[in-house]
Amino acid sequence: MSYLAHLRVWHGDADGGELRDHVVEAAEGEVVLDLVHRLQATECPDLAVRWNCKAGKCGSCSAEINGKPKLMCMTRMSTFATDEVITVTPMRTFPVIKDLVCDVSFNYVKAREVPAFEPPADLEPGEYRMQQVDVQRSQEFRKCIECFLCQDVCHVIRDHEDNKEAFSGPRFLMRVAELEMHPLDARGETRADRPDEAREEHGLGLCNITRCCTDVCPEHIQITDNALIPLKERAADRYYDPLLRLFRR
Ligand code: SF4
Repeated sequence: MSYLAHLRVWHGDADGGELRDHVVEAAEGEVVLDLVHRLQATECPDLAVRWNCKAGKCGSCSAEINGKPKLMCMTRMSTFATDEVITVTPMRTFPVIKDLVCDVSFNYVKAREVPAFEPPADLEPGEYRMQQVDVQRSQEFRKCIECFLCQDVCHVIRDHEDNKEAFSGPRFLMRVAELEMHPLDARGETRADRPDEAREEHGLGLCNITRCCTDVCPEHIQITDNALIPLKERAADRYYDPLLRLFRR
């Protein structure tokens, strides 16, 4: 069954823009990205939209649908009433380049600020051994497709541009947690350890665990419970535990 859907799409660039209404044909089984493509193929050939796999795995088609951060390719039209107005806007946390396409380079800057895995100096490649339980723990975090929806929804940077320098966001704090939980990561042996770095350089203390990041993650990664809270606990132990402080001195 096909019907006429009502889309309200943001058109514009860094200098400003507007929401425009469009009536677009929708067919059974389609997702929001199908309608955006149909709009591009008909009424708006210059509409800018980033996409790639259309299977929820490339993390490219992130946008806000009715104000909620979502992947356009994974948002089924059947989740809306046929007479509902569906608003499609670019992610709010990042600067707009054109229409639905944002400049997400903030995330690549933050990614470069997380030091890479450091194996123990006395282990040769090929000698690394890990328990299956440790492999499984990081496996969850490695499902991340870098859609940056968690970065988009996080109120620490969504509503406060001035926090962007000090705060890396849930995606990259999760990366620090993954490395901290890696049994062979030896970074803490030679210099500041991961929880200290998370607190001092990635703004861990600004996160007040509202769980918004976990709610929007299309991979259903338990960002808050399995990455952010354990990282906060480790940072608090290191920094506030009087015995540990004495020992470190
Ligand atoms: Fe996207 Fe989830 Fe990765 Fe955040 S953690 S970038 S929401 S897949």
